[in-house]
Amino acid sequence: MAGRPLLILLFALSAIVAAMVAVVGWRRRHAAPAVGALAFLAAGIAGWSAADALLTLTAGAEIARVLQAVKFLAIGAVPAGLCCLSLAVVDRRWRPSRRTIVLLGIEPVLLLAAIVTNPWHYRFFLATDWADPYGTSTPQVGPLFWAHTSYSYLLLAAAVVRLMQAWIKGPRAQRGLYGAILAGAFAPIAANVASLAGLVQVTGLTSVGFCVTAVIIYWTLVRRSLPELVPVARERVFDMIGDVVATIDASGRILDLNAAAERMLRQLAHDLPDRLIGLSLADMFGGLPPAGGGETEVSLTDGAGREVDLNVRASVLHDRRGGHAGWAVLARDVTVLNRQRRDLEHANAQLLQQRTELEQSNTRLHDKQQELEAVNGRLHDKQRQLEQSNTQLHEKLRTIELLRADLVEQATRDALTGLHNRRHLMEGLRQTMAAAVAGDQPLSLALLDIDHFKQVNDRYGHRAGDEVLIAFARLLGGEVRRSDIVARYGGEEFVVVFPGASADQARARVNALRERVAGESVHADGRLLQVTFSAGVAALAPGHSPDDLLQAADQALYAAKHGGRNQVRVAGEPEAGAPPSAA
Ligand code: GH3
Ligand code: MG
Ligand code: MG
Repeated sequence: MAGRPLLILLFALSAIVAAMVAVVGWRRRHAAPAVGALAFLAAGIAGWSAADALLTLTAGAEIARVLQAVKFLAIGAVPAGLCCLSLAVVDRRWRPSRRTIVLLGIEPVLLLAAIVTNPWHYRFFLATDWADPYGTSTPQVGPLFWAHTSYSYLLLAAAVVRLMQAWIKGPRAQRGLYGAILAGAFAPIAANVASLAGLVQVTGLTSVGFCVTAVIIYWTLVRRSLPELVPVARERVFDMIGDVVATIDASGRILDLNAAAERMLRQLAHDLPDRLIGLSLADMFGGLPPAGGGETEVSLTDGAGREVDLNVRASVLHDRRGGHAGWAVLARDVTVLNRQRRDLEHANAQLLQQRTELEQSNTRLHDKQQELEAVNGRLHDKQRQLEQSNTQLHEKLRTIELLRADLVEQATRDALTGLHNRRHLMEGLRQTMAAAVAGDQPLSLALLDIDHFKQVNDRYGHRAGDEVLIAFARLLGGEVRRSDIVARYGGEEFVVVFPGASADQARARVNALRERVAGESVHADGRLLQVTFSAGVAALAPGHSPDDLLQAADQALYAAKHGGRNQVRVAGEPEAGAPPSAA
């Protein structure tokens, strides 16, 4: 056994160091539940060491009794703390539930009660000397002490078993952490067991040993492995990611996975254990990601028989020495996306087809339009042709109409002289006579005959005769009034009808005409010829027909010829012996 001052120093140092670990751990307890458990454990160790230091220092029985109570309360916290620590380290999602806290709190309360009430039953400590209850060589402890010790070792054993299991089966990356905690805890536990068994005399230094354990755990946990145990960051970053994120080791076992990954795996396989970390993804999916990582798309069938399309990206993870440590796998459920993409492609294809059909119908429409335009053009041409033919037809009709009118006119005219012919004369004479009778107006008619016309023909030729006839007709036409009718009666005979004129008036006008004809020369066949005419005038008498009137005039003409020619005679007048010029 070491000297008292050294012991006191060791205990005090242990208490200070453990208290520091406890304070730091408590401050950082939110980083991970394991850090909180370490703070609790370290607090227990600090209390234990401090009580040991004070117990070594003091000799007062009353103070020693209080210190013993404090010490055992602190000792009670150690297995509980280590137990919580082991749970928190192995499963980072572990949280001390209220039930756990209550259950773990029962024993320390009972323990405190047992110690406080010890003077009445001496079942915890057999000795009455509180300053050295164990005695210098043999522990002076009763059944309650052993009950407490058994309970403590039960908790310690549970913690050690849990850690060993994790150490053996857990992901390789975290084995160092488990191993360090085990190693740290093992030494004081072993020393304590040995001392309790009476093998060694170091029982009093257990608190110091546990302080070393706390430091080791602090070092491995807080300084080296904290990021692996930080559930807050994990929850905030890892679990919030909607995509599947997992890290797997080189053998394909899950090192870590987020909530989405867990949901996905449980959707794909129903019979998975509660704890997925350590499970072999390679076994589940029949293979590992490519050694160099990369992106692939896999189609899987989930537990309900549904097709699930996953886009999987794996990037290689390296350990500190650059070796292949595994993969970080990021997977995304692209089933809906793929379906939407397929739907889109389908819709696109349909759209394309519809567009092609539209284009085709458009082309057909265009062709039809062109055909229609061509038909329209032809129709237009036809219409134009029709219009042209119509115009031509109109012109022809007009020409025909003109020709017809001309023919009608020609039918009433004499071809040589242009004067009205005999047929027109008879028609006009009938109408004029009827009008004269109806209006009780006089009407006279003169029959003119060119004298010795035959001789003109005979001397100068038939053409010269024609020219004389034409010149005579022109002169005759120029001398009459508008209401008068002038016509070629036949050969070299002409008729003039004088409506409204008595026989005398008619005679006077015919005589004036005769004198003018006799006084002028006529151009015929390049020479100047002189012609005369004789005329018979007849006035309309009641009951006269046109023929009667003409006949009366013809008789008067005959009388004029007979009377010596170049004279005018009125029908019904006695033949005068006067010379023609006086007629
Ligand atoms: P008169 O004094 O007795 O009337 O004698 P005339 O010679 O005039 O009479 P006649 O009846 O013997 O002759 C008429 C002639 O007129 C006969 C005919 O050849 C001629 N004649 C009739 N019509 C035409 C005609 O259109 N052109 C020409 N050139 N001669 C015509
Ligand atoms: Mg004649
Ligand atoms: Mg004649």
